Order: sequence, then structure tokens, then C-alpha cells
Amino acid sequence: MIPIMKPNLSGNELNYVSNCVESEWISSQGYYVTKFEELVGEYIGSPYAVAVSNGTVALHLALVSLGVGDKDEVIVPDMTFASSVNAVLHAGATPILVDVDKDTFNICVSEIQKAITKKTKAIMPVHLYGNPCDMDAINEIAKEHGLLVIEDAAEAFGSEYKGKKVGALSHASTFSFYGNKTITTGEGGIIIFKSKEVYEHACMLRDHGMRKDRRYWHDYVGYNYRMTNLQAAIGVAQMERIEKIIERKVAIAKYYLERFEDIREIKMPKLDFENSLNTYWLFTFLLSESTNREDFRKYLTDKNIETRPTFISAHDMPPYTDFKRGNLSNSKLISQKGLSIPSYIDLQVNDLEYIADQIANYFHK
Ligand SMILES: *Cc1c(COP(=O)(O)O)cnc(C)c1O
Repeated sequence: MIPIMKPNLSGNELNYVSNCVESEWISSQGYYVTKFEELVGEYIGSPYAVAVSNGTVALHLALVSLGVGDKDEVIVPDMTFASSVNAVLHAGATPILVDVDKDTFNICVSEIQKAITKKTKAIMPVHLYGNPCDMDAINEIAKEHGLLVIEDAAEAFGSEYKGKKVGALSHASTFSFYGNKTITTGEGGIIIFKSKEVYEHACMLRDHGMRKDRRYWHDYVGYNYRMTNLQAAIGVAQMERIEKIIERKVAIAKYYLERFEDIREIKMPKLDFENSLNTYWLFTFLLSESTNREDFRKYLTDKNIETRPTFISAHDMPPYTDFKRGNLSNSKLISQKGLSIPSYIDLQVNDLEYIADQIANYFHK
């Protein structure tokens, strides 16, 4: 079976993890954590990077560090991984689920406008499957209403919006380094802050809310959200070849895009901002109304090609039904018709040809 995704650990990963074990620095202090924060911060474009244990706590810590909590509303796209919505609830705030654009799969700017109330404190755009959101438009609305913007960039490491890396376009952004993400640390996440003050506050909250200048003195009820040296060691090795990884992701997407151009039944997410880049975390498209997704998936499974349906629209699941706002029909459509196909960087040219051939054959192209 050709899997949908798998990590590539072919560089210094083993070497650096061995260093941790040999040096006995296996917990959250040690060389690699700081190094990883530096490398990611430099790559994204901010010196204020905080490495944490996973992408979900990254979102939670970003929200609480910025003061989002009780009685606040946070506008979140209905089409996302549940983690985005959960983090808002964990912070004690209320998620407001709005529709996405059916051409980009990303949060719909006019729906954000409509969902703003006196209680709105923040907007959380999610760069879904690697496709950058319209950050200029979102930041403009935020500015007009005095709102915070927190990018959930878990799926968009390396993606660009108008010449800048996503993750550097808001008050705080988060990435996930789960095993199937663009780069991995096994489990892991990072927050990129704009403000030094908020960054310092987050560092303290990550470490039990303990003061830096007075050990075992706590001004806040903090968390233990630290990343281990072992995780960071893998991350540092991944960052050493980040340009190659992104290049390969983009080349795979380009191949599929060309092959599927003439297939009417396949619709790709749009990206029409200049100097922008979708890094296609998972190569994902919409099937036409008349294509039965389950039949298509079964056909590909029989050809040993793994596929993955898109996320389920959040408002359709029991914990989130109360939070929907407005018409969520695009989210529902993407939920029912979206599909991801294999796009990990070790796919060989013959694998790509095989996958594209099978798909083309299904639609008789
Ligand atoms: C993966 C992911 C997360 C959470 O990451 P974990 O590291 O698995 O906790 C959050 N948001 C989105 C959109 C994701 O895809």
C-alpha cells in the first residue's frame, strides 16, 4: 500500500537523538530545544519562537498568552481539524464556527465580518492543507475591530503569502510537528509570537508559570507544555534540509496538478495571491457532485493507493453543534467531496506516475 504520508528521517535524526541519549540530556533542557527554536524562528521570520509538546497545546498556549479566555469569542473555520476548535474551548473561550470558501477551502472573509459581536476577541484562520489564507483581508478586519489574529499554521510549514512565510503574519501562529506533518519531531509544536512581551509570558506559562528569576515562585497557574531535547533533536535534523523538503513537496504537487488539469471531476483549491505558495501538506482536491467518493476510494484502495477523506465539518459533531454561525454549506461540501492522496517526499517518479495513471483511468482520461 502506498501510504498517504510518512516521515523522512534520513538525515542527522538518529545521530542527534543518539547524542541526547549518550549525553543523558533527554528531558526538556539541552542544546537542541534552543537550537530548534532558533532555526524555526529564523526560517519563519521572528525571533520569538516557543517550542512545545504538540500542536494542540501550541494553540492553547498562544490563546492564553494573548489573554483569550472566559467570555471571549474566537472565530474559527468550520472546516478544520478538531484541535483548532478544542484549543479555544480549553482556553475557556467560545469558538464561533463560520463557513469556508469553496474555491480555497479556507475561512471565508465575509463570514468573519458577519460573525463579529461585542464578545469577539480573536480570529483563528487555518491555512488548510497548506493553502495560505487571505491574511491581508483578515488582518484588516481584525484591525478595524481591535481583534487578535492567531494563525493555525499546523498544515502550512513553508507556505507563503505575498512573499512572506505564513506564521509571520499575525499576533501569534502555531505549527504542529506530528509524524505526518510537513516536518516532524514525533510529537511537537511551536508558537511564533510577534511581541517580545507575550513571548516571555508564554515561556513562563510553558514552564509551570514559574518565575525565571525566582525558582519555585509562581505568579500564574501555568502548564508543563515543554518540548523534550529528544523531540527537538529530530526537529533540528529536519530543519537542516528544510529547503529540500519543501522543494520536493512542491514538485510532487506540480506533477499532480499537471496530470489532473484536464480531469473535470477533480477540482483543486485555488491560490491567486501573487508571490504565494501552497506547500500541499496533503495533496487534496474536491470531487465533482456526480463522483461517489467512497467508490473512488475503494477503487484506489484496490490499487494499493491509500486515500484520506477531508475533515468532517465541525458543526456536524456532537461537541460543537452549538457553535455554528450562518450557512455552513461549503464546509459541508468539502467535508463530503474532499480527498487527499499520497504526497510524502519519498514518493518516486514511478509511484507518482502510477497514482496519477490510476486516477486518470478512473475518469477515462
Ligand atoms: C495537526 C493539526 C493540529 C494539531 O497538532 P497536534 O500536534 O496533532 O496536536 C492543529 N490544527 C491543525 C489544522 C492540524 O492539522
